[in-house]
Amino acid sequence: MSQTPEALYARIKEEVGVRADRLWELSLALHREPETAYEEHRASRLLADALEAEGFRVERGVAGLPTAFVARTGPAAGAGEGPCLALLMEYDALPLLGHACGHNLIASAGLGAALAVRAALGEVEGTLLAVGTPAEERGGGKVAEVEAGLFDGVDAALMFHPGVYDWVWAPLTASAQVRVGFHGRAAHPTGSPTEGIDALGALIQLFNALGVLHKRLPDGSHIQGIVTDGGRATNIVPEYAEGLFGLRGGTTAALEELMEELRSCAQGVALATRTRVEVTGVGGRYEHFRDNDVLSGLFAGHLDRVGISLSEPTPGVYLGSSDIGNVSTRVPAIHPWIAIMDSDGSDHTPQFAEAAAGPRGRRAMLAAAEALACTAADVLLRADVSERAWACFHRKATAGL
Ligand SMILES: [Zn+2]
Ligand SMILES: [Zn+2]
Repeated sequence: MSQTPEALYARIKEEVGVRADRLWELSLALHREPETAYEEHRASRLLADALEAEGFRVERGVAGLPTAFVARTGPAAGAGEGPCLALLMEYDALPLLGHACGHNLIASAGLGAALAVRAALGEVEGTLLAVGTPAEERGGGKVAEVEAGLFDGVDAALMFHPGVYDWVWAPLTASAQVRVGFHGRAAHPTGSPTEGIDALGALIQLFNALGVLHKRLPDGSHIQGIVTDGGRATNIVPEYAEGLFGLRGGTTAALEELMEELRSCAQGVALATRTRVEVTGVGGRYEHFRDNDVLSGLFAGHLDRVGISLSEPTPGVYLGSSDIGNVSTRVPAIHPWIAIMDSDGSDHTPQFAEAAAGPRGRRAMLAAAEALACTAADVLLRADVSERAWACFHRKATAGL
């Protein structure tokens, strides 16, 4: 390192500072015209253009997603020496509620960090990526990007998320959806009752069985079901009934176990009711979030210097699921929360959308940009950081965490 770490961090602060108003403007522009999953054409263009304007090479429409992109400095993929660092940007909004998850702040912070670290470091041996990750709220752009190999060779993936807590990492469960369809036999319920095999009756038994199962599920595991097809008319024994089940597990392994439990409950019910059952997965699977505490510790230290201190999450509290899970089980990753409203509030509400365009949102975004950039600099300039991050990753993977 040609300059002391302190001088470098001060330089990063300056680089974020000179861009602060522009970053906030961009954040507000996204907020004013929210775009939902896979429709974020304007947001991804604004971000990619801003990166291109400061010398990043941008590839748009990556992983088969028109609104995903990768901006890169440093050597071409695979050719580089040194670590590879990715800063992640989400930018999709929620239907009807706009930016009620504050992804406009994630986008600006990721952008600000990428621009600041590049400006402060100049050319380094490693590779810096700024990755546009669409559709977090529905579908999971990061799942497609992981599958397309976009994170292969990455040593650290960094982002922050606004929230109602200041937490150093995000307790996010693994999750999946499963469709369960029972096939019975239609009959007139009074004319020929013995001919009927009641598929809806079977589905109701499955709900009952899951009610019993629920009592012995480990912390973080959960099933929520709805009936999506319960028959056609009261004078026909339903020949088909179908439910959709949302499954969650504290870890991806726990989710897999729960899937197996659901499958055996469904098969058991089918056997008991003489129906035939089909169990099929719906959409992609979100994996649990594996925090890299080497990287999240560095981030928390930098954020502390900026004036926001993070704590460990409250044990037993889970905050949903996210496609960052799938990144975090492939490469060292962080997903800290920074509060933009008090803990009696909640994301996915009109109040949270308002906060995402308010002064506390601005402060969180700029603080995150600076701390992300400083963490990125640590990874790019100190070989021991990515070594320790990978060691932490492998230790947790071996322990099933
Ligand atoms: Zn959300
Ligand atoms: Zn979100």
